[in-house]
Amino acid sequence: MNRRDLMRALGAACALSGPGFPSPALGRTGDCGDASGPSESRLETEIVRLKLRHTWTTTMSSSDFRDTLHVRLIRDGVTGHGEGAPIIRYKENAAGAEEAVLSVRDLVTGSDPWQFEKLLGEIFRRVPGQYAAKAALDIALMDWVGQKLGVPLYRFFGLDPSDAPITTFSIGIDTPEVTRQKVREAQAFPVLKIKVGLDTDDATIAAVRSATNKPLRVDANEGWKDKEVAVRKINWLATQGVEFVEQPMPAEMLEETRWVRERVRLPLIADEACQRARDIPKLLGIFDGVNVKLDKAGGILEAFKMIQIARALGLKTMLGCMVSSSVSVTAASHLSPLVDYADLDGNLLIANDPFAGVQVRNGKLLLPDRPGLGLNPA
Ligand code: MG
Repeated sequence: MNRRDLMRALGAACALSGPGFPSPALGRTGDCGDASGPSESRLETEIVRLKLRHTWTTTMSSSDFRDTLHVRLIRDGVTGHGEGAPIIRYKENAAGAEEAVLSVRDLVTGSDPWQFEKLLGEIFRRVPGQYAAKAALDIALMDWVGQKLGVPLYRFFGLDPSDAPITTFSIGIDTPEVTRQKVREAQAFPVLKIKVGLDTDDATIAAVRSATNKPLRVDANEGWKDKEVAVRKINWLATQGVEFVEQPMPAEMLEETRWVRERVRLPLIADEACQRARDIPKLLGIFDGVNVKLDKAGGILEAFKMIQIARALGLKTMLGCMVSSSVSVTAASHLSPLVDYADLDGNLLIANDPFAGVQVRNGKLLLPDRPGLGLNPA
């Protein structure tokens, strides 16, 4: 029975209010999402098209929407929500992520979710690549566990929500006029993250600076291929009120990046050069910090490990995100009390977020105190 048929069969149950909360906007099939009985175990997938408020351009791509994979783990009357944003750079897409999740559906529904560490270990062994799919499963499991325990995830990890940092708001690459408009729209955020890495860098920064004096963080997304150009640009950015530069050169150009770091006055943060925990040790002496993302890492648990390892090695830590809904961004925000910097604005860039979770006030992340992720329908 495919999902559509299953939903049709469960149609009557949708009229009843199940435990947990109804799942908003996910239902192309009009499902209620919470029809499970006490012993039912279901895993549902759905590709959700997120519409961007502005065309989103970085060195890698330009688009008006992003498709992310949403999953729901429905078990013992509780629905755990997960999301993964496939990363084009790693040749991922939503259809591939969905296929990967479905390939382990029987494993997930047939396993004990309380043994989530063991279960996720087995998923990581069985599924090559597809880290967005793994993130979606991990987040759904952790949401389920948190709800069952009756605690918000930050409490599960022993964290103080008042330690959550401010988040930057990201300004994608655009014309000077639109850049100025985006900066004005980001008035509530005390620090901005500016995407650069194309020929337009000088014009972009000039446009930002014509509209604000706020501190800036800059992300080159591997855009500078020449180490001398990178040094020149970074030392110029140091005169423009920039706090640090993320991934100035291509991930594989580690020795060139080391050469650059010896000649610049700003800290360098690794993003594309640091996908998972095992990537961190080789970055010592080359970067000053790492940008951890659930979609790169494969979920909350691997991201938690990465943050701890980076801190133990004396690196600065940052939590980032892809363009995604409040499911994924809220999941990351529950770990944010651990990190130095947050760039958790992916849900703020979209116009049709199906959920509400983490909130932002004057840039500060406000974590939900409801159990699990603490999501509500939007
Ligand atoms: Mg980045």
